[in-house]
Amino acid sequence: MHYDYLIVGSGLSGATIANLLKKAGKTVLVIEKRDDLGGNISTEIKDGIIIHSYGPHIFHTSDEFAWSMFKDNVEVYPFINEPIANCHGEFYHMPFNMNTFHELWGVTTAEEAKAKIAEESKEVPGEPKNLEEQAIKLVGRTIYEKLIKGYTEKQWGRDCKELPASIIRRLPLRFEYNNNYFNDTYQGLPKGGYSKWIENLLEGIDVQTGVDFFSKRSEFEKIANHIIYTGRLDEYFDFKLGKLEYRSLKFDNQWFEMDRYQNNPVINFTTHDQPYTRCAEHKAFDPYCENHHSTLATFEYPDTFEEGKIPCYPINDEKNNALAEAYKELSSKLEPKTFFLGRLAVYKYYDMDDCIVAAKEMFDRLVELGIA
Ligand code: UDP
Repeated sequence: MHYDYLIVGSGLSGATIANLLKKAGKTVLVIEKRDDLGGNISTEIKDGIIIHSYGPHIFHTSDEFAWSMFKDNVEVYPFINEPIANCHGEFYHMPFNMNTFHELWGVTTAEEAKAKIAEESKEVPGEPKNLEEQAIKLVGRTIYEKLIKGYTEKQWGRDCKELPASIIRRLPLRFEYNNNYFNDTYQGLPKGGYSKWIENLLEGIDVQTGVDFFSKRSEFEKIANHIIYTGRLDEYFDFKLGKLEYRSLKFDNQWFEMDRYQNNPVINFTTHDQPYTRCAEHKAFDPYCENHHSTLATFEYPDTFEEGKIPCYPINDEKNNALAEAYKELSSKLEPKTFFLGRLAVYKYYDMDDCIVAAKEMFDRLVELGIA
């Protein structure tokens, strides 16, 4: 069969654009190289426990369209992410808020906390040049050393002085007693897991799993009028300008014969004492879980990326961004036959809602071009 669109990759970006194109009356084929759908948000169920196979994902957004793509395509229940940080065995609330400031300094009012931070951030008077300076400017040296430095250096495999300031701006800073990790209007989780949502988005669409685009590239290029590629940007061009770098993760899954292993869904380990950055207990995300005899905890180890590993995060530093731009010059010339979408193909640190917004923008562009 010949299709209007071939979508390469069934992650959230691919599944969203496939869904929008199908609803617009287009014929769509989705191919996925892994055996399961959903890319890095996919979940599996073992012993009644929904496992976030590639690390815990919490859907949060302030975008009405992204929220409707979520709640209209799967049953959603409310969930507020409130991670705890473990620093040398001391526990602190995250993100940085009045609870954290009280635990660290004994302060009880926003004025006292602001005064403490102002005093500690004096050492960075000008524009911050790197992540260390940015963090100290935002929250002062105590928080930087106890809750940021170790976590960030483990996460990115580099000294905080060599990392871009932008990474830390993702974290909220609040002068209220509020441990919600996100500032967004909406937040929730899909009942039954993210894979259920992806399956629903792809309902009625032809899907082939275990199929690598590059193994039959010339055949796939002929199978549809248009291609939307959501794989790695550099791989599409056979790495001809050089390799983009990614940060990878290794997941150490440990089953325990007990109801609960830790008393919070996510605990961050913010010092170099442990090689892992965080531990997630999967059943703690799911109020519907009926298994009370065993539990799965996953320890996350950041890792350097090489072929065969999972490309998780783009490394958006100057060098990699410049290379990505050079590839994007090439990719834009392939339109309107081939379009590039998603975290890996656009080489951007997207949250889940960003993937949906980008897919909608692409869909609107396809409509404007008269091909959707
Ligand atoms: N971060 C930190 N301490 C923490 C959690 C996060 O310093 O306990 C910093 C770290 O630099 C990290 C960034 O905040 O790279 C973004 O963290 P987030 O939890 O948003 O990362 P993600 O969930 O996307 O992996």
